[in-house]
Amino acid sequence: MTWVIAVSNQKGGVGKTTSVVNLASALAIRHGLRVLAVDMDPQGHLALSLGIEAGESSRTITAALLGVQGLGQVVRETGIPGLYVAPSNESLAAAEERVSRQPGREAALATVLEPELPKYDVILVDTPPSLGVLTFNALYASTHVLVPVQPRLYSIEGLRRLYQIIHLMRRRLGRRIEILGHFLTMVDNRYRVTREVRSDLRARLGEGLLKTEIPMSVKAEEGHFHRTPLIVYAPDSEVAGAYAALAEEVLSRLRGEVIRGESFESGVGLEGGER
Ligand code: ADP
Ligand code: MG
Repeated sequence: MTWVIAVSNQKGGVGKTTSVVNLASALAIRHGLRVLAVDMDPQGHLALSLGIEAGESSRTITAALLGVQGLGQVVRETGIPGLYVAPSNESLAAAEERVSRQPGREAALATVLEPELPKYDVILVDTPPSLGVLTFNALYASTHVLVPVQPRLYSIEGLRRLYQIIHLMRRRLGRRIEILGHFLTMVDNRYRVTREVRSDLRARLGEGLLKTEIPMSVKAEEGHFHRTPLIVYAPDSEVAGAYAALAEEVLSRLRGEVIRGESFESGVGLEGGER
């Protein structure tokens, strides 16, 4: 079975793309998994961060979503063995409207991924900072959701709408989608708000908050700039180590090695019984 994981939070700049790049790289390099990273954000930063220039190319996820090309035709090899990327570019913003008018519009990505699933162990889907049809498609196609959270005030209040959509996917559309967990990004312990938000999230999410935290680091920005995953750019850095640890924790959850207590989902208004 292929795990399809949407990395989602409708807030921009919380570390979604950075997390997809580095988690995908760690899963391919350290665990030898076959990984596909899919960019559902028209900003197109995901492939760029992996050293792939999609520019004005027509070989992007847009063509696949519109049925012009198969996913296999738009997927590119990266410099990392086992890691592939389906890039996006601005054309995806224009396509969003066309996809919205198609019948079964929320299932477009799931349909495109379906025949390619056997080729990969894990598919990570990067999402835009909005809850429109592109994010709907990402969630509909996914078996799991991973939520990066920046430790700021009200950082999870804004997630209520995301939880509502997940709820809707399960109840109305019969999708089997699980919140794999939330994790803190850009953590700087010098700030009191970091400690306060952490303890608030622990109390509210319990098991829903992963142990791994990603520290604030200038290396993250540099890796972005050099279009190289941190595990390659700065393998000995704390932030690369944190992403390696996140990959381990995510894998052990996916493999069911972590025995989870009472569903934390009730704490965020998603009752386990209503799935
Ligand atoms: P999103 O995809 O949620 O919009 P990004 O992953 O693009 O967020 O990150 C937003 C910005 O923050 C980028 O410039 C990125 O390089 C930077 N960034 C991401 N993670 C870290 C980190 N751990 N420390 C410092 N800067 C980071
Ligand atoms: Mg992004």
